[in-house]
Amino acid sequence: MSGPDGLRGGRLVLASHNPGKLREFRDLLAPLGVSLIGADALGLPEPEESGSSFAENARIKALAAARASGLPALADDSGLVVAGLEGAPGIHSARWAGPDRDFAAAMRRLHDELAARSGGFARADRRAAFVCALCLARPDGALREFEGRVEGEIVWPPRGTGGFGYDPVFVPEGESRSFAEMTAAEKAALSHRARAVAALLAAMGADPPAS
Ligand code: IMP
Repeated sequence: MSGPDGLRGGRLVLASHNPGKLREFRDLLAPLGVSLIGADALGLPEPEESGSSFAENARIKALAAARASGLPALADDSGLVVAGLEGAPGIHSARWAGPDRDFAAAMRRLHDELAARSGGFARADRRAAFVCALCLARPDGALREFEGRVEGEIVWPPRGTGGFGYDPVFVPEGESRSFAEMTAAEKAALSHRARAVAALLAAMGADPPAS
């Protein structure tokens, strides 16, 4: 990471125990030419996400993995920020779904809280954004940080069956379909994660994959 291309050909740890995320980042980071290793494969512990922002949580995870492994490490933290809820669920996006990952309940809570605060859902400030913070850390503590956002609005009732999490209630700006009504490729062309990775690739001097 000393130069813009300092990762090329080397090993990079993904500070995540989620195999789906590892697959997704392997594809997204292909232009970097690195060998991406999951935190599981190295037996790394999962640090507590005790930060108060997406960027801080990504930093905590990346630094912990880099220090424990002695290798550069990448971490992400993401979620949904809703204007009429003063930024909630934000860094608590996953927690709103509870231990059973019940996103139908989390979306219902989003609707009910917006409606309760504004005297009805139709009157609520439904502007929202998905945000993804990425942090690349070196074992000596040097950091590079990137962010991707996609703006949009919350709709009700939920629409579509694709995607995951809050996708059925999020319509990106300039679109009429929710993320859950799009193909994976259509969502990937707009998504906060893809935008954050594009910023990282640009900083590393690598071209993003053609979509
Ligand atoms: P994490 O960054 O993997 O901890 O994910 C945080 C949470 O944000 C996820 O569990 C989802 O609830 C939500 N989230 C993040 N990205 C998306 C997305 O692209 N669509 C829907 N929900 C998302």
